[in-house]
Amino acid sequence: MKTIQQGKSVSEGIGIGKAYIYKQYSPNLHASYIQPSQVSEELASFFDVQSKAEKEIKEIIKRFELKNDDKSKIFEAHLEMLFDIMIVAEVKRLITEVHHTYTYAIQCAFDQFIEMFNSVDNVMINERTADLKDIRNRLLRISEGIPESSLSTFDQPTIIIAHDLYPSDTASLDRSHVQGIITEVGGKTSHTAIIAKDYEIPAMIGVDHVFGLIKQGDRVVVDAMNGKIYVDPDAKVIEKYVNQQKDYLFEKELEKKYLTTKPVTLDQVKIELSVNISNASDDELEIESFVDGIGLFRSEFLYMDSRHLPTEDQQFGIYRKVLEKFKNKPVIIRTLDIGGDKKLDILKTPEEENPFLGNRAIRLCFDHIEMFKTQIRALLRASVYGDLWMMFPMVGSMDDINDLKQIVKEVQTELVKDDIPFSPSYKFGIMIEIPSLIMIADHVADAVDFASIGSNDLVQYLEAVDRLNPHVTEYYQSYAPSVFRSIKMVIEAFKEVNKPLSICGELGGDRVAVPILLGLGMRKISMNQASVSSVKHLIATNEMKTFEKMANHCLKLKTEHEIVRYVKSELTKSKTA
Ligand code: PEP
Ligand code: MG
Repeated sequence: MKTIQQGKSVSEGIGIGKAYIYKQYSPNLHASYIQPSQVSEELASFFDVQSKAEKEIKEIIKRFELKNDDKSKIFEAHLEMLFDIMIVAEVKRLITEVHHTYTYAIQCAFDQFIEMFNSVDNVMINERTADLKDIRNRLLRISEGIPESSLSTFDQPTIIIAHDLYPSDTASLDRSHVQGIITEVGGKTSHTAIIAKDYEIPAMIGVDHVFGLIKQGDRVVVDAMNGKIYVDPDAKVIEKYVNQQKDYLFEKELEKKYLTTKPVTLDQVKIELSVNISNASDDELEIESFVDGIGLFRSEFLYMDSRHLPTEDQQFGIYRKVLEKFKNKPVIIRTLDIGGDKKLDILKTPEEENPFLGNRAIRLCFDHIEMFKTQIRALLRASVYGDLWMMFPMVGSMDDINDLKQIVKEVQTELVKDDIPFSPSYKFGIMIEIPSLIMIADHVADAVDFASIGSNDLVQYLEAVDRLNPHVTEYYQSYAPSVFRSIKMVIEAFKEVNKPLSICGELGGDRVAVPILLGLGMRKISMNQASVSSVKHLIATNEMKTFEKMANHCLKLKTEHEIVRYVKSELTKSKTA
């Protein structure tokens, strides 16, 4: 038995299962040539991998069709490209005339087409390069005899071991069998972490050299309550954890009973409690009757799950669906937040030294104005179907706010010209996640209809600590006094002009932070689904008076450690009182 005690737990719970090593394949080929006598053998090898690829793709299509999932269409297009006459002819030419090995020929032929598609000044054509890369990698992987790795079908309890997971990996995750996730990189607020929490899958991130520590098929226990991982544990350890897992799930079930209660404190202060969503699936929207609205719809997931930029109509359809489902309840939809940790295969962006400080979110959208306007147009068109609150991420100055207003105005003018209706009562808001805005919170509060604090980024930018870098996680202090003092300044500025302010970062669903936030005067909080019952339980079993006392005390404390210790001990007292 081996015990690993490194990394950070980002989603609580206990997972027991077999390790599944998940590595996204990336080809590493050098130029290689054959003798003219080997041409027919090489051609045969090419046709062989082509037919194996065809089989794999057909199986994927079948799986998606069984689930009535539209993603099958992406792979139908892949099938067509696999047999594309021009590409296949080029592979054959490179083998027969230039005497490339078949793998090198595949690489060169596909790369030629990728370059060609990239150089055309047409986004629709540029987007096809992601598909071509996918097919090229599939062929090359098969040629190396490496089986396809997918997270969508397991037949036993599984712990995923990966360098990192991308949103598209997690989108297809087999939730019924995945019992745990362990990754080498990531941070407390990475999207792997957020999705693990949402799916209630115990997860540990930042485990260095994880592939050296855990092998395929090893039995693994993830104790994401205490930050420990056991590899090939003995029977006693397994028994202990099977019991702890049962107790933990039992407690969670008890808390879930609070899902249906109203978020009102014992002294009758009503809190507006909303939920964060990312893909607007029917599953995600089911929570509607238990919450006051959507506090954050991370719209970038529509772009990330897709091989193509979503069209205006596709986006309109999704926004309309969410607004209709939440009729009369506020729905905050955030515009595309790409850059930083989130990359889009379909959008060519240059490598950056400091991506979190670079061309991210609205900055990137300003550079791709047509794409940006398409999203705003889709949002405005959908506004007639509900209570739309349009929110912009990564705003850093009044200039940004003015530019955004100008763009929205231009889109409105176009809609009027085209005689397309939109609701004039939609709200214009921003995320407060760059500290410069806190210094001018009064001007910001004057200029917008509402704002929401993105504490995940606020902490990163306030404390100058990369939210994903595992080597500095100890410096990423979500409960630092500076964080709460900053938030207090924003609360006061918005209170002054009587405009809505919420929080939608991870702190909004955190049992240590929520008492302080409410005590400071925050009345709107938004969180992942998984936290809703637990936060409702916290609100319904305490008085606002207690939260205010706690917040006032926390403002005087000097370190994160003191704040966490104090809040936890106060909460334990109130539980046993
Ligand atoms: C945040 O920064 O707190 C936030 C909610 O946005 P994201 O985590 O998507 O960056
Ligand atoms: Mg953010």
